[in-house]
Amino acid sequence: MNIFNTKKEIKSYLTAEKQKNKTIGFVPTMGALHKGHLSLIKEAKKKNDLVVVSIFVNPTQFNNTVDFVKYPKTIENDTKLLNNVLCDVLFLPSAEEIYTQNIVSDKFDFDGLEHQMEGKHRKGHFDGVATVVKTFFEIIDPDIAYFGQKDFQQLQIIKKMVQKHRLNTKIKGCPIFRENDGLAMSSRNTRLTETHRKAVPFIYKILEKVREQFNVNNTLEITEWVKDEFKKNTTLELEYFTIAEEKTLKSEKSKASDKKYRAFIAVFAGEIRLIDNLQLKNN
Ligand code: AMP
Repeated sequence: MNIFNTKKEIKSYLTAEKQKNKTIGFVPTMGALHKGHLSLIKEAKKKNDLVVVSIFVNPTQFNNTVDFVKYPKTIENDTKLLNNVLCDVLFLPSAEEIYTQNIVSDKFDFDGLEHQMEGKHRKGHFDGVATVVKTFFEIIDPDIAYFGQKDFQQLQIIKKMVQKHRLNTKIKGCPIFRENDGLAMSSRNTRLTETHRKAVPFIYKILEKVREQFNVNNTLEITEWVKDEFKKNTTLELEYFTIAEEKTLKSEKSKASDKKYRAFIAVFAGEIRLIDNLQLKNN
């Protein structure tokens, strides 16, 4: 695996590879890699001649300094995992390399997608994400970029960015990888205390029950039920729960048979904030 730290190095390597007509699949990550990340890389390997993975803990997408500072960093293990899955290129830039002078985001308009859910609770988060993803796309110019449905709102926002800025990269959404007990894999899971780790499978259990209720009760009743369940749980704190339409990410009171819906949730386990979502079947 080739490892590059600078834009100049990776650009000149990839330009030469593109001249040989090689296609490029790109998987942006913040490192502390787990099976969820590896599933994206494996998917990229199937469809592209070269797979580029970036590891960059992007300062501008964190609205919480403690979360940024304590974000897990396991670069040695990450490199081993990437070699095991035959990743071709690892891009490992510094913040100065990506932002050159000021570490600030550009401002984006995503037709309102950015104002829902994570956008409400993490001010500036999606401007930070879009700034870094757009910069990476300019450096790497990938044919296909892979994003997890774990961050479903992010996936929809990146698709919108590509459409609005007329970028050439195709965006592929990949399924959520879970632990055996249902917990969605996340780099932040390693920071959970033993007590919180035991408590968090509750999040997916609630989502499964929401899926069961979706054809029986209305979204308001389901939302109230979820809030009540979390009030009874003394270990976890619900930040938000909402059932939203997949394209607009807006919550709707009534269901339309031609639309797809998902349940979205954000929960605090101590100081660790976890998000998850589940597609609902609209019979
Ligand atoms: P992160 O390193 O958390 O920024 O994630 C990098 C990419 O991996 C994003 O596209 C995430 O949506 C995706 N990802 C993270 N966790 C999972 C998971 N459990 N299953 C599938 N994809 C994931």
